[in-house]
Amino acid sequence: MPPNSNPFRPLLLRQTRLTATAMSTSVAVAAAVAGVGVYALYLRRSSAAQITGADAKSGSGKPIFGSFGFHSLRLHSTELINHNTKKLRFELPDPSQPSGLSLTSALLTVSFPSGRWLPVLRPYTPTNPLDEPGYVELMVKLYPGGKQSTHLHSLKPGDRLTVAPIKEIAWTPNKHAHVALIAGGAGITPMYQLTRGILSNPQDKTRITLVWGVNSDEDIFLGDEFAALEKQHPGRFKAVYVVSQPGAGSPHQKGYVTKQVLENAGLSAASEKNKDIKVLVCGPPPMEKALTGTKGWMGNATAGVLTELGYSPNQVHRF
Ligand SMILES: Cc1cc2nc3c(=O)[nH]c(=O)nc-3n(C[C@H](O)[C@H](O)[C@H](O)COP(=O)(O)OP(=O)(O)OC[C@H]3O[C@@H](n4cnc5c(N)ncnc54)[C@H](O)[C@@H]3O)c2cc1C
Repeated sequence: MPPNSNPFRPLLLRQTRLTATAMSTSVAVAAAVAGVGVYALYLRRSSAAQITGADAKSGSGKPIFGSFGFHSLRLHSTELINHNTKKLRFELPDPSQPSGLSLTSALLTVSFPSGRWLPVLRPYTPTNPLDEPGYVELMVKLYPGGKQSTHLHSLKPGDRLTVAPIKEIAWTPNKHAHVALIAGGAGITPMYQLTRGILSNPQDKTRITLVWGVNSDEDIFLGDEFAALEKQHPGRFKAVYVVSQPGAGSPHQKGYVTKQVLENAGLSAASEKNKDIKVLVCGPPPMEKALTGTKGWMGNATAGVLTELGYSPNQVHRF
């Protein structure tokens, strides 16, 4: 099978386009899971070896994720970075090339748990610099009973993982004066990739406010990196942490990401400073629902905190 004739391709091409326009990643992934079911057994039996074979011949001088397609990456090393999060460093087939991923891209990971017909597909956002040659790194939080996070945490150096690139939004420098990034738990990784990408582009003057809700102080696994960016870019980037169960002496505020917390962080839509703002949200489903509202079937729709703060739906993007 040539590398680009993967049976997932039409479905996921469509999914990628939808993702770039109107759909959140979670909806897009759910659509992909439903659609690819019939191919799962076929892919389980045949594609891993074929994808691997295609990639082994790589070295074409082109970044691997410059175009759409599935690839098998070899795990180079792992590192436990806190009580529940592992950094997984994967080798790219051509060590001289960066991944080719652009800002706000993720990797759709595919696994085939034994005893299941359907594959498990979940997105993870690389956290190493996008221009680093030879590697992509994922930071994966382990969820109790989580299908993909458990699989990824079980991988050993030398094991392989099938992935495809997906794009979230097309980031255009200076399209918005201000971007608000609201994250919960491991939903921080797309925000980290975007923050670093904006701040490392001298042409991009976008101001960034990050609000990150976590369970404990130990969950702030990119805290040092964000602190360094705040120091390097005073007035451009501000990070606010909200911890539901802070330890004694924690420097962070206690609680959840509420309307009050967002107002205190300067994120009321009524503020003159936020006339041209884009709000991006990525977190656990209950947090996303609280922020962006629910449709509801029996007249029980909720507006969500962001609507209460004065944001219109087209100002808000849910990953
Ligand atoms: C654009 C995007 C990028 C992401 N990047 C990363 C990343 O870099 N690192 C990372 O660790 N995760 C990331 N995620 C989340 C990831 O895709 C999975 O949702 C997560 O790993 C759980 O998958 P699972 O199969 O292990 O759990 P599942 O089997 O789906 O669920 C197991 C349990 O975990 C709960 N759960 C599922 N998802 C979440 C969640 N996001 N937050 C809290 N509880 C949850 C479920 O309610 C359930 O109780 C990202 C999500 C999106 C949309």
